Amino acid sequence: MVRRRFSSAGLVVCATAKNGLTRETEMTETIVDTGAARAVDAVKAYGSGETEVRALDGVSVSFPAQQFTAIMGPSGSGKSTLMQCVAGLDRLTSGEAYIGETALSGLNKTDLTLLRRDRLGFIFQQYNLIPTLSAKENILLPLTLAGEKPDRAWFDTIVQTVGMANRIDNLPSQLSGGQQQRVAVARALVPRPDIVFADEPTGALDSRTGMEILSFMRQAVADAGQTIVMVTHDPHAASYANNVLFLADGQIIDEMPNPTADRVLDRMKRFEG
Ligand code: ADP
Repeated sequence: MVRRRFSSAGLVVCATAKNGLTRETEMTETIVDTGAARAVDAVKAYGSGETEVRALDGVSVSFPAQQFTAIMGPSGSGKSTLMQCVAGLDRLTSGEAYIGETALSGLNKTDLTLLRRDRLGFIFQQYNLIPTLSAKENILLPLTLAGEKPDRAWFDTIVQTVGMANRIDNLPSQLSGGQQQRVAVARALVPRPDIVFADEPTGALDSRTGMEILSFMRQAVADAGQTIVMVTHDPHAASYANNVLFLADGQIIDEMPNPTADRVLDRMKRFEG
């Protein structure tokens, strides 16, 4: 039997010899662009037998570094599942997810927690701020937990850009929803993570505030080389990305570089037709 898998160095062919021992041969092929994160033959199944639901049905995808990628698709198409599995928040049933060259299936719970803390940033629809901490303390929390000192100039730049400089000592309860999301965006960006994962980051915001947050995220990619992967069902939000991936029934069925809201909307309509 011969099976193939990707390793950090390239393709590994595993051959099971007649004696049952596995022989691995490193091939000279190298993967050209492994991306900041990727999934290879990713399957996520819930339930079993006749009631099995395949939230992901063999997805292979690479999220390029320093790009803003949007994941779109109808409700239930697997968007959140894909993000959660690539971000180490959930485990695949089979296949592999990578952050950089780190294969997530090989990590135990503690290693996954550390990987998320040290290398990833998250922005969710619910801002998930700690109510007893000020905006500043919330923004610095990931670094505090990691025992690291912030880069003062970068912190100031982010706080200025998200327009929170004069609200930095306020508690979340003293801030509007839009301001709380700005804090959450700053919290994700200040540690300069390898990737920021955002799940419907503007879903709870009015359209003007949502636009400002998305513009800032795009700016963080263009100016600071941040990598962002965003799940959304909103064509307007997706139009801020460099590339849109379309999911349907747990599979990637299309992509659109340099999207506009109108073109994304037209593509989405074809799902319904
Ligand atoms: P989307 O984010 O595109 O709306 P999801 O990734 O949330 O889609 O879900 C994909 C499919 O997996 C759906 O059919 C959903 O019902 C199913 N699913 C998601 N989470 C679970 C779960 N914990 N248990 C059972 N089925 C689930």
